[in-house]
Amino acid sequence: MTWLDVAADHPFGITNLPYGIFTTAAEPERRRVGVRVGDLVLDAAAAAHAADCEYAVPALSGPTLNPLLAAGKGAWDATRAWLVTVLTDPAYREAVEPHLIPLAEVTMHLPLEVADYVDFYASDNHAMNVGKIFRPDSPALPVNWKHLPIGYHGRAGTIVVSGTDIVRPSGQRKGPQDPAPVYGPSIRLDIEAELGYLVGGATTMGERVSVDEAADHIFGVVILNDWSARDIQAWEYVPLGPFLGKSFATSISAWVTPLAALDAARIALPGQDDPVPLPYLQSASGTGAFGLDVQVEVSLNGTVVSHPPYSTMYWSPAQMLAHMTVNGASLRAGDIYGSGTISGPEREQRGSFLELSWGGQEPFTLADGSTRSYLEDGDTVTMTAWAPGADGTRISLGEVSGTIRPTAPEA
Ligand code: CA
Repeated sequence: MTWLDVAADHPFGITNLPYGIFTTAAEPERRRVGVRVGDLVLDAAAAAHAADCEYAVPALSGPTLNPLLAAGKGAWDATRAWLVTVLTDPAYREAVEPHLIPLAEVTMHLPLEVADYVDFYASDNHAMNVGKIFRPDSPALPVNWKHLPIGYHGRAGTIVVSGTDIVRPSGQRKGPQDPAPVYGPSIRLDIEAELGYLVGGATTMGERVSVDEAADHIFGVVILNDWSARDIQAWEYVPLGPFLGKSFATSISAWVTPLAALDAARIALPGQDDPVPLPYLQSASGTGAFGLDVQVEVSLNGTVVSHPPYSTMYWSPAQMLAHMTVNGASLRAGDIYGSGTISGPEREQRGSFLELSWGGQEPFTLADGSTRSYLEDGDTVTMTAWAPGADGTRISLGEVSGTIRPTAPEA
């Protein structure tokens, strides 16, 4: 199938081809677009130049994926088709092979300059769990939850690439029984296992993107960890939503899986009959509001603690994008939006420690015998994900990892 020595069932085989930004030890300042195939990284712009594909060079020249995101759906499709051709047709081997670099010899970087960042709340299992834990005397789901994909604007400038250490944030907290708020390092530092969608193909203010057009603006998918300080969040979030409990850091995977690589993972949503969403949140074609069969795995210090199934998510990424633009808010190349925590109906499918430990009441045990409700300094969280690929293969979405470092001393 390919002139490369890559097994047909490799999780980064020819049906995957994720994009990232890399440097080499020889040129540590030159950030370039790389395409992963097997355990190799293709220097995409150099290969395009060598294979007489000059038109593709500007969008692939880095130092971020933003030029490619800006180039739009037509360019994404053409580039992907070109990559498949040059990596399979032996006629291109001589030109392309010198531009393949062993994965172990590259350093990966944040794949894009993030424009705007929005985070949604699209799992009904997660929203119900949080409602029961935070608001035990109220209905588990907010009254608006099944009418619109709830979201908030997050902090674009603190999105970091996998492998970046996370310093424990400080802030205000006040428990229900505390007489007054106190300031200090967060004592309920948590994770949220999510997928993030990279947006390309800008729109102008006043323009809407329909559910059926949304996929034309979704370049690809990353695994996203929305680090969350639950104590800071609980005290600050009414009435304007998440703020400093979230904005200190959000981690994303280094490799961006093209949405096109997830064609075989598209599935129907679990169901939106009660109530039926307003027309602007529906697909006229019937297929625009798709779900994704992506399986996530969350590990803490090497112990797998959860298997969140993205297939259970209530809202489609296409509905989220349609909702995000229905008021005329424009899209920029480099926008990211998160899905919200992925939680399935079972305990071992919960995508946050808040849920896994049920608000700290039911600590869980790691392989070394220690227990956790929230993160301790030195803890490393790694999330991986996979999806069905074309031809019965299984494709990997890579991983997002981060280690908690102690709060910096006060000046
Ligand atoms: Ca979140």
